Amino acid sequence: MPPAQQAALFPDAVSRPGPTLLFRDLQDLQDRLLTWWGGPPQPREVWDPLTQLIYSLCSSRTKDAESQATIRALRDRFGGWPTGPNSWDEVRWERLRDASIPEIEDTLRLATFPDRKAVQLKQTLERITERAGTLSLAFLGKYRTDKVRAWIEELPGAGVKASAAVVNFSSLRRRAIAIDGHHQRIAIRLGVVPANATARQVEAALVPLAPADWTAVTMDEHHTLVKKLGQRVCTLREAHCNRCPLREVCVTGSAARP
Ligand code: SF4
Repeated sequence: MPPAQQAALFPDAVSRPGPTLLFRDLQDLQDRLLTWWGGPPQPREVWDPLTQLIYSLCSSRTKDAESQATIRALRDRFGGWPTGPNSWDEVRWERLRDASIPEIEDTLRLATFPDRKAVQLKQTLERITERAGTLSLAFLGKYRTDKVRAWIEELPGAGVKASAAVVNFSSLRRRAIAIDGHHQRIAIRLGVVPANATARQVEAALVPLAPADWTAVTMDEHHTLVKKLGQRVCTLREAHCNRCPLREVCVTGSAARP
């Protein structure tokens, strides 16, 4: 990372500049991950922005299988299925917005913190209705990406990861990298950011390393490949550097004993 960019992102770390990166750009990482996993991940089922936001809010600190089961339970109980033939067609979530907190909490029981998430979800849907005049995020398609993200981050419980997921994973399909806990940990271990970097700082450091011709779909694939690495190789409990495809280009891995 250029010194000026590092100083802007990490003012407290200027006196302790991070190590030099061992990889050229994210394409370098992507090539290694694609070879290791044997190709790109399964294409994502793309949803409308509001459904993606609901999923992102419910899925924080929750395993993928439980998150998928939770969104299915919400769809079944509150009629949240697409109104057209495609998964990204608009979904009407008014029944979820108007449901009681106990009903929502009961439907979220597979997710972590269902009590807290039920309150937050209802508040979020009510807030969207107040601000947009209707319960829909379709109008965001007319905005620039930074404006869309700022709009989403003003909603209850929606931070930088949720805003990146909405713009990148949903039918908006804009360039952004959603930084979950796995991605954050791996970026730190790779030497991209200092150990105390936030998700926003990690994304700000990684996006300039993405080749200019990377599309939103490429960034989505990169997110998924890195997440899989974090789930199975570079885990929270242990970094299994000896069997990691990024070892040669990783500051932590290259310093570890063989
Ligand atoms: S080499 Fe080790 S620390 Fe680096 S990404 Fe791989 S498992 Fe994580």
